[in-house]
Amino acid sequence: MAHISYSQLSLFSECPKHWQLNYIDKVNVFEPSIYLVFGSAMHTTLQTYLDTMYKETITKADALNLPKLLQENLSDEFLKSKKECGKDPCTKNQLNEFFQDGINIIDFFKKNRNKYFSKKWELLGCEFPLNIEIKGKLRFVGYIDVIIRNIQSGRIKIIDIKTSTRGWRDKEKKNKNKTSQVLLYKHFYSQKYNVPIDMIDVEYFIVKRKLWENLDFPQKRIQLFSPASGTVSVKRTLNSLSNFVDSAFDGEGNRILKEYAATPSKDACRWCEFNQTEHCDKDKYAKKYALEFDVRYEEFPPTHEQHNMYCVLPKFNYGKPFAKWRYFERNKKIAERSDIIVGFIPNNVVSNGTMSTIDYAQKLNKKTLIIS
Ligand code: SF4
Repeated sequence: MAHISYSQLSLFSECPKHWQLNYIDKVNVFEPSIYLVFGSAMHTTLQTYLDTMYKETITKADALNLPKLLQENLSDEFLKSKKECGKDPCTKNQLNEFFQDGINIIDFFKKNRNKYFSKKWELLGCEFPLNIEIKGKLRFVGYIDVIIRNIQSGRIKIIDIKTSTRGWRDKEKKNKNKTSQVLLYKHFYSQKYNVPIDMIDVEYFIVKRKLWENLDFPQKRIQLFSPASGTVSVKRTLNSLSNFVDSAFDGEGNRILKEYAATPSKDACRWCEFNQTEHCDKDKYAKKYALEFDVRYEEFPPTHEQHNMYCVLPKFNYGKPFAKWRYFERNKKIAERSDIIVGFIPNNVVSNGTMSTIDYAQKLNKKTLIIS
């Protein structure tokens, strides 16, 4: 039976083509990593502590040998990943380093546990399943990391555990694609269990592997972040979900088999397993048709990329160290070189790169056109 999860929505919102390659074409170029192994192992370890603390006693939870548990969970996740991908997800050194980071997190968590979790709350579940029909046979499926209810007020808190290197900065906190997972859970939990939505709070419980060095003030290994989760924010997330469902699923909830737009952006492409592969050569169609129709074809890659035969700038400009400003430099050069800039931006898609080029062109009084 077809189902969607938050990670599918997130993928589609960033780049529909990335979603297509994963879920329609089912191209398997998945690269296992220590980050995934560590994330899963840490989740299970913390959840085991909370499960014991709430269902039994704090004393019993404190008596758990969490380092040993973490080690076993890391080992399980390592083997699981190896079985799925046919190769080691990480080196032994990485595993040791991340294990030590995990020990530091556990140490901080146990010493400060009462600031985050107390017996004034009851546990409704760890890995709490949500399974809701949204269109035809299509279901939304998700698992809430931790859900607790305040015994006195009855308020509910949905908690999502994230593992991070040094915590979330403003960029991550402002990234709606990153923060709307708990908003969807809030909406669907309220709907399924008939709980007024304003009785539900949401929180990211972010555990940090590393601390900044040489800082004068004490740092915490745990960062809490509650994104805006009022009516407007929940509605915006539901609109993204509707857009995804309407664009990619038919009335019966089956995936629509078609070519989906690629919406390249620095953030989306940087971590995309299809970047620079045969599966997504973002510029290949422009090039293919330009050459086929004998139209002059030129390229302006950012100068941290390699030179090729279509580059307008000479070779010595390329192969520089990576820097974000080189994209803006490139966009400006494209605007200067062109008589008219045409941007192809699908509806409801934010394309900062194309818009930056269009802004430069408008400042130079060049003609611009956006086709959705
Ligand atoms: S490389 Fe970029 S444009 Fe291509 S599928 Fe991945 S995210 Fe989309």
